[in-house]
Order: sequence, then C-alpha cells, then structure tokens
Amino acid sequence: MLFNSKAVALLLAAIVGILTAAFLYLVPDVSTTALVVAGLLSFSATYFLVYIVFEFLVFKEIGKIYEVLNKLRKKDFSFIEESEDQNSLNPFKRINTEIYKYGVNRHQEIEDLKKMEAFRREFLADVSHELKTPIFAAQGFVHTLLDGAVEDKKVRGKFLKRAAKSLDRLDLLIHDLLTLSQIETGEMKMHFEHFNIVDSASEVIDQLESKADKRNIKISFDAEYDNPIFVYADAELIYRALMNLLSNGIKYTDKGKVTLGFEVSEGNVSVAVKDSGRGIPPEHLGRIFERFFRVDKSRSKEMGGTGLGLAIVKHIMEAHDSNVTVTSTVGKGSNFSFRLPLGKTIEEEEEEVNDLELAD
Ligand code: ADP
Repeated sequence: MLFNSKAVALLLAAIVGILTAAFLYLVPDVSTTALVVAGLLSFSATYFLVYIVFEFLVFKEIGKIYEVLNKLRKKDFSFIEESEDQNSLNPFKRINTEIYKYGVNRHQEIEDLKKMEAFRREFLADVSHELKTPIFAAQGFVHTLLDGAVEDKKVRGKFLKRAAKSLDRLDLLIHDLLTLSQIETGEMKMHFEHFNIVDSASEVIDQLESKADKRNIKISFDAEYDNPIFVYADAELIYRALMNLLSNGIKYTDKGKVTLGFEVSEGNVSVAVKDSGRGIPPEHLGRIFERFFRVDKSRSKEMGGTGLGLAIVKHIMEAHDSNVTVTSTVGKGSNFSFRLPLGKTIEEEEEEVNDLELAD
C-alpha cells in the first residue's frame, strides 16, 4: 500500500522538522548545530508519534476491516468470534465490531435458511412417503375388485373393508397434517378461556374407555378430583393434546394402566399422563416429538398412528408458551407432562365483571 502509516509519518515528520528548523532560523543567535538538532528531534518525535497513532489506531483497524470484508467475500466465516471490545472509544474498532456483528448475523441467517431448506426437503419426502402407503393400498384393492374380484362376494367385502381402512388412515393423516400446519402458521385462531380441565379430561377418558377396555388397559385419573381445576388456555387444543397423550398411552401399553393426574402449585397446574407400557429407549427420547419419528414403525402403523401426535402436542404447548416433557423407562412406562397457568373460577370471573361495571 503506497499510502501507509510509515509514508504518512515520514511526510508529516519532514514537514514538522523543516517548519521547526525554519522557525528557529528566524530567532537570532541560534547556531546551525542547534537548528539541525531541533529539526531532527522534532522530525523523530513527529515520526514516532504519527507512526504509532496511524499504525495502531488507524491502519491496524482499517487492515482488520479489509481482512473481515475479504473473508466475508470469500464466504469464510471462520473469523467469527465475539468481538473483544464492543464499547471502545475508537470509532474504527466500533466499525469493525459492527462488521463482525453483521457477518455473524448474515452467517446465522444463511445457516438457518440452509437448515430450513433441508428440513423442508425432508418433510416433503416424508409426507409423500406417508401418503403413498395408504393410497397405493386402497388403489390396489379397488383395482383387484374391478379386475374381477368383485364377483366373489367374500373377497368383495374383505377388499372393500381394507380399502376403506386405508382411506380412513389417509383421512387421519391429512387431518393431522392440517392441524399441525394451522398451528404452525398461526392460521388456527387461539381461543383462550378459563375452563375446568378436570371436565375436559373426564370427556377424553370417557371417549377412550372402550378402546382401552378392548386392550385390557385401565384408563383413569390418578386420584379423586372432586373440585374443579380452572386453567387459562385454549380448551379445544388442550382437549386435543390430552387425547393424543392418552391414546398414545393406550397404543403403547400391553395390559396395564394409563393415568391422568394434576398438581396445582404457584399459579400453575401440572398435568401428567402416565402409563405402565413399553417405555421409550433413552436414545429416542429426544426425537419422539419430531414429525413422523416412530420408535417402532410397525407397531405405530398397526395401531393407526400417523407419527404426528406428539409433534401436534409439542406445537400446542408452544402456542401456550409451555412445553411438554417426557421421562420413560423401557419396560416400565412413560410419563408425559406439561404446565398451564391456573385460571379463574366462574365466580371470580363474575366478580371481576361486576367490579369493572362498578368502576364504570
Ligand atoms: P404415533 O402416531 O406413531 O403414535 P406420535 O407422534 O404420537 O406418533 O408418537 C411418536 C412415537 O413416540 C411413537 O411412534 C412411539 O414410538 C413413541 N411413543 C409415543 N408415546 C409413547 C408412549 N406413551 N409409550 C411408548 N412410546 C411412545
């Protein structure tokens, strides 16, 4: 670089040296030696001062900015590290910090986009695969019937039933996919209200009782809940989450029990769904909330699972600023739980409305 700190320092030092000598020259009785010494001294002092200022405060920082820009251009993000001096008084350092931050943010955005793109591709492949299975099965049965099997009364009934089962599966899958995407895109309008979660849970248990009976499973509350427990949440979505968790308890338990319990503490209600089923191996625990992830594919499909139940529960909880957690022991059972904020009782709500009316 032609315009570097040494060149600038030399130029300025020469000017100051000459000016000092010229000024002293005007003073009477100053010897030539003194003139030369004063000129040289001011030259050296100016040179070092300017050199240090430029080298350490200006060129060094400009050099760093160039380095960062060059790496950014080459899409090399290896330089990215937390900048040491965020509040420096040196404006160059602050510019450099800003460029660092800009680089980090762009890099993060690129990484996020790449991840989203990979996720989208994977999801599309999974959905196509999941849709293909029941469609192919139903198609196969219908074509076999059309090719002549329809004449055989026994075969006709059997094949039609199988085709219907495949189409029901398809319907379930599409329904779950729609629910998931509606919650995710925010298309599903949340309707928060104060409601008694014990009532909702009783309804879910009633709905699932005959299914549990058929599999020799006892489904019940873990204790007597004689008093209502009010929560503030979207009643329909919570019903759906309870339905998914309790049905899973039934699906993955061979003889045993599935229980539902509540614990009230510090303005929250903790809801727990426990089963004495097969449990989930620890290496899979982190993945069961992913769409289409199944520990045992054939068991899930045999039980009519879409592989989306827990992903829906996870999204429902996120929409409530909560989360669902799981603990499980293989061979002993699983425990899924989530928290909701305590709601107001009907009397409390009425009181509030009265107070507001009085205030008006
Ligand atoms: P699926 O429709 O397959 O049940 P889910 O999203 O509801 O899909 O669950 C994902 C997977 O997590 C299931 O396939 C199963 O392997 C596992 N799983 C979920 N709940 C339980 C449970 N209570 N006990 C054991 N495994 C479970």
